[in-house]
Amino acid sequence: MSEAPHLTFDLDTPGVSRGHLFVPGGADRGELSLPVFSLNQGEGPRLLVTGGNHGNELEGPIVARRLINWLPEAQTCGRVIVLPVLNPLAVQAWSRNTPLDGLNLNRVFPGRADGSVTERIADAVSHVLLPMADTVFDLHSFGPTWDFPPAATTHPVADPDLMARTVRMAEAFNLPLTLVWQHNDTAGMFDITAQKQGKVFVCAEFGGGAVGADNLAIYEAGVRNALMALGLVEGKAEYPTFRHRSSGQTLETHPSDELKSPAAGIFEPRCSVLDEVKQGDLVGILHPMDSLSSKSIDIRAPGTSTVLAISSGMHVDASKVVALVARPRK
Ligand SMILES: [Zn+2]
Repeated sequence: MSEAPHLTFDLDTPGVSRGHLFVPGGADRGELSLPVFSLNQGEGPRLLVTGGNHGNELEGPIVARRLINWLPEAQTCGRVIVLPVLNPLAVQAWSRNTPLDGLNLNRVFPGRADGSVTERIADAVSHVLLPMADTVFDLHSFGPTWDFPPAATTHPVADPDLMARTVRMAEAFNLPLTLVWQHNDTAGMFDITAQKQGKVFVCAEFGGGAVGADNLAIYEAGVRNALMALGLVEGKAEYPTFRHRSSGQTLETHPSDELKSPAAGIFEPRCSVLDEVKQGDLVGILHPMDSLSSKSIDIRAPGTSTVLAISSGMHVDASKVVALVARPRK
């Protein structure tokens, strides 16, 4: 029997600690040591910040490292634990999933102690770090094949009190978009495990496409705003603008708000994220490439809505989601 997952330092130590989350080895590979930063300033909120859940979303790890740099000067109370890279195997491969076992870390929570490496990471995080926090910020971005506005997101939560607290926390990022996102693929998400333990969980989704300085500045300002709202740091909230838009919208999106490719081909975007569209407005065009006699097909908005996410111009299979729209939260 291998060693149980553990931290290499005591989180109760006052002040700054740096060490590792030890993830035991298994049949597929040896142990992993994930770098962890902790700043314990006594009584107050207990926050866990994670990045690198998906290996091709690198804004989160970068902002987590920036946070570690300024937190010692700024944090006045409580405890913040930062784990910049949850899945180093995926990050090193710039891959959404872990190359070794092909698994999506954000679909295997709470993990398995005797599972493959991705499941062992989830198990270590669920059992060692999660119990030490009341609030979790999991820093994602939308991946390289999408355009997406800076957003603090949550899925619908069954407990109305936890839902209200989660939406308030997400809105405290002061980002251009707060999103309640209902989709059908939530089993095994980190959110679900944390919410089952009664924790407020906010997932940040930013940008997509290339990692850029402007998006990183917005991202970091959002995280700082949220830390201020928790009372962990002092200062004045910022209201970052994104493509000339400031904060303020809280929207919701459902599975029926996914616009899918009507055929295989190249998707051409015809609008931008945060555009307001009416029923029948052109969102994009699908160009079949198998024959020049195949007509290009318009993809139109199903109703009055805001364009939330739009796929980069790329070749897609039939029935692949190419755009998402959203509406004001009821
Ligand atoms: Zn992600």
